[in-house]
Amino acid sequence: MSNQHADLVLTGGRIFTGNAAKTWAQALAVRGNRIAAVGTDRDVAALAGPRTRRIDLRGRTVTAGFQDAHVHPTHGGLARLRCELHDARGLDEYLRIIAAYAAANPDREWILGGGWSLADFPGGLPRREDLDRVVPDRPVFLPNRDGHDAWVNTEALVRADVWKGTPDPADGRIARDDDGTPLGTLHEGAMGLVSRHVPAATEAEYREGLVEAQAFLHSLGITAWQDAWVEPADQDAYLTLAASGELTARVVGALWWDRSLGLEQIEDIVDRRANGALGRYAATSVKLMCDGIVENGTAAMLQPYLDPAGNPTGNSGLDFIDAETLKAAVVRLDALGFQAHFHALGDRAVRHALDAVEAARQANGWSDTRPHLAHLQVVHPDDHARFRQLGALANAQPYWAALEDQMIELTLPVLGPEVSARQYPWRSLRRHGATLVMGSDWSVSTPDPFLQMELAVTRISDEARGVRESFLPEERIELVDALTAFTAGSAYANHLDETGTVEAGKLADLAILDRDLFDEASGPIGQTTVLATFVDGVVVHEIAGLD
Ligand SMILES: [Zn+2]
Repeated sequence: MSNQHADLVLTGGRIFTGNAAKTWAQALAVRGNRIAAVGTDRDVAALAGPRTRRIDLRGRTVTAGFQDAHVHPTHGGLARLRCELHDARGLDEYLRIIAAYAAANPDREWILGGGWSLADFPGGLPRREDLDRVVPDRPVFLPNRDGHDAWVNTEALVRADVWKGTPDPADGRIARDDDGTPLGTLHEGAMGLVSRHVPAATEAEYREGLVEAQAFLHSLGITAWQDAWVEPADQDAYLTLAASGELTARVVGALWWDRSLGLEQIEDIVDRRANGALGRYAATSVKLMCDGIVENGTAAMLQPYLDPAGNPTGNSGLDFIDAETLKAAVVRLDALGFQAHFHALGDRAVRHALDAVEAARQANGWSDTRPHLAHLQVVHPDDHARFRQLGALANAQPYWAALEDQMIELTLPVLGPEVSARQYPWRSLRRHGATLVMGSDWSVSTPDPFLQMELAVTRISDEARGVRESFLPEERIELVDALTAFTAGSAYANHLDETGTVEAGKLADLAILDRDLFDEASGPIGQTTVLATFVDGVVVHEIAGLD
């Protein structure tokens, strides 16, 4: 019967199934939105009919669509539409781009965008005077690429009434000159002193940003993601696109936990979940930001940061959510069926997050909420086994585990050698049985899964291939594990159990790569490109000439 014919047949490939017992297949067939068969060319070719699209893979790899388990698409998309500094390096280049953007956008009251790198400024501290030279008359507010610091000009500080006498907020710091004058960098919560004067992005801008981001992520083989910071404006954008049919990706929204409030916000979060399910979007996760970052001394550490002479300072970072509130919140959220998605970067934040999961397990028994801890820059060895024991997923950002300027200048000196060696312990976590999932944290760093997997496998960034040595090479993982983490692992974190592997009966979310990914002769993993991406069997990205 012709209606039993497949709609799509892929043959002659190296299909990574994600099933460890039969990792590879030659061919697959798609019927409707599902994978109809996976097997040999001979078996699968028999499913083709007169209207079936056939693609000869010529030895290329096909995988389940990649899933980014921690990403900020509205921010990334908006950044691509604003003053975009992510691809630039160095003060001169930044100022040239900012000046050009300001000149091209004379109607914009504020100059917004961002993406500069801490490593391009002494001490990670850009100065307002540099911005004043290119934009003297309008306020400028530019977060850096990891979103934890902002570079502002004098006009922005004046508008916000931030000057010498302004105290630091509890969850942030105003970088100052010796006499107390703000020098133009705002850390963490201090960004809010200025950002609350920034006009909110319009609904149309959010939607445009999201559409831009989605197209970009699909072009990288990504078919689903977890948005790691969903506020009402983000959710509105997702729901609008879901309603119009423009949302082609599958998206889990992690609703932002407002750390200035307590458990009373849970009622509102429950409402936002109830109103946040449409098409491929569902707001079933809650983002709990436990701490900051190492580079500016706000990651919560079990031991103090060191001064330039190597002696302990009085600072061991910040608990953005105190440990007891965190426990109570996670116990309650877990009981309500929410997934906890922690930003846990320093070893004290990791411990507090695991303690909170443990409290939830004790109070509620074993639930299927699949809590996950993102970032995991420093993990105390005593905590490695707890991920498996507690059913907490390790959400890795593999692109960060490299010896680059920011690591050498801003991280290694303040952590010291012993703690520095506990960074990004992906192999140690796997050895202790942890489920590894992967996410980019774009727009902090690249969303390209191939660049990230190359780094997971080599611990050398693509920018330093052949130049720098591997960073903590004992923590390298195998490509097959990285690929599994980015597909099946992240699908598990997203509760998208009908995706993540290539098996008959699963949804047809697939990526066709330009090469045999495991053939070392085909070049660095990070140079891989995606020829086509499918969601539910429908093309969402394709380069010409594939047939
Ligand atoms: Zn993030």
